Amino acid sequence: MRSLQELEESQWWPCERIQQLQSERLQRLIHHAYERVRYYRALMDARGVSPSDIRTAADLSLLPVLTKTDVRQHVSELLADGFPRRELLVGRTGGSTGEPLSFYSSRESRLSRGIARALRAYEWAGTYPGDPIVSVSRRRPSDSAKDPQFQRVVRFFSRNVVEDSASLSDSSLPFVVQRIASRRPRTLTGFPSTLCIIGEFIRDSGIPAPEVNAVVVGGEQLLDEQRSLLRDVFGTEPFSKYSSFESFDIAMECNAHEGFHIAAEDIVVEIVDDAGKPVEPGRQGRIVVTNLHEYGMPLIRYDTDDESSLLEGACACGRSLPRLSTIIGKTGDTFYTPSGKRVSARSFRTAILVELGIRRFQFVQDRLDHVTVKVVPNDSLSPGKAQKLVAAVKAHYSSTLGGDVEIRVDIVDRIEPTPAGKHLFYISKVTRPPGKDALVSQK
Ligand SMILES: [Zn+2]
Repeated sequence: MRSLQELEESQWWPCERIQQLQSERLQRLIHHAYERVRYYRALMDARGVSPSDIRTAADLSLLPVLTKTDVRQHVSELLADGFPRRELLVGRTGGSTGEPLSFYSSRESRLSRGIARALRAYEWAGTYPGDPIVSVSRRRPSDSAKDPQFQRVVRFFSRNVVEDSASLSDSSLPFVVQRIASRRPRTLTGFPSTLCIIGEFIRDSGIPAPEVNAVVVGGEQLLDEQRSLLRDVFGTEPFSKYSSFESFDIAMECNAHEGFHIAAEDIVVEIVDDAGKPVEPGRQGRIVVTNLHEYGMPLIRYDTDDESSLLEGACACGRSLPRLSTIIGKTGDTFYTPSGKRVSARSFRTAILVELGIRRFQFVQDRLDHVTVKVVPNDSLSPGKAQKLVAAVKAHYSSTLGGDVEIRVDIVDRIEPTPAGKHLFYISKVTRPPGKDALVSQK
């Protein structure tokens, strides 16, 4: 609560004061990393960088970007010497697309600061601690479940009810909607893909939508068509928030809904090119983050695999926290082709699938030259219609991806969610081929 109170105040500070606080915290973290973290000491010594060379976020480019592969290979050297083990919590990334990654975070960073940033994001959506929330997510035992401090936080949110996202089906959806309505939540929250399954059901069945004050989505990029579906169904503009498994809440929408305010008091966000150099505002690049409260396993300039650009100018809400524009997917949303094209899944123009009578879909790039499109049609199809559908989908996406990618279309009854309960539309199992960086943007 103390952390939340601080964040409630600092969000209204002028830009310079926020930057000053950020720089002080950054200097402290860098000194700590040099003195206590073997990985960073070796890195800085090798580059001739002294801790006092890094005074502000702009100086961070003296250090390289830290990738998931770096973390996987150097877990023990990234842990701070002498940091009390009992203060460390283990975390694992979902691993829904790539390889899972284990990492450590401190209690302070995850439970105190991380949760405070999430609470502030809810406050921006008009929901305060103790207000009823329905969260549609996967019920699963988590590593934090046994933690007493975590339990206290959960009790604090005792009105936060979880609806299991793994059990969403045509037969269960009427009851899910009924239960949400009966709890009269102030906020409905979940992955965009999950809430859209509920939203589509409400829209198509014509049953009244549960009354909610706000819809808060996170964990995945919110696509434009999802945003308008949620807005139409729930009658309120959804709030999207950007977080990661490793750094927790990073940036979130305010009620102006013009980009994501970075929680700059706690997190340094840089937008960089492929060489790790910061790009100017307005230009798209990779999001790298430094969590200023992570002293157990500091991750400095950590590559999130997501992309965005910095917005210029003041926000209508009056907060001077810097803003990111749209957040563009995980690497799993980017498809690569043998000829070196890089195609964002956002350019897939999925409206055509709706026109073809497809209710749900998933694109899986299983090899550099092969993409499987799984589709669930609205109605059962005659063999003739099925053949036409397959041909239409193939033709459309061959033109998007190029002739060197073979497309296979599978008509299925159901698309399984990931172990974390995410309903992914795009999965790429192919990583970026080295040296092939031609970005294809097809809007
Ligand atoms: Zn704002």
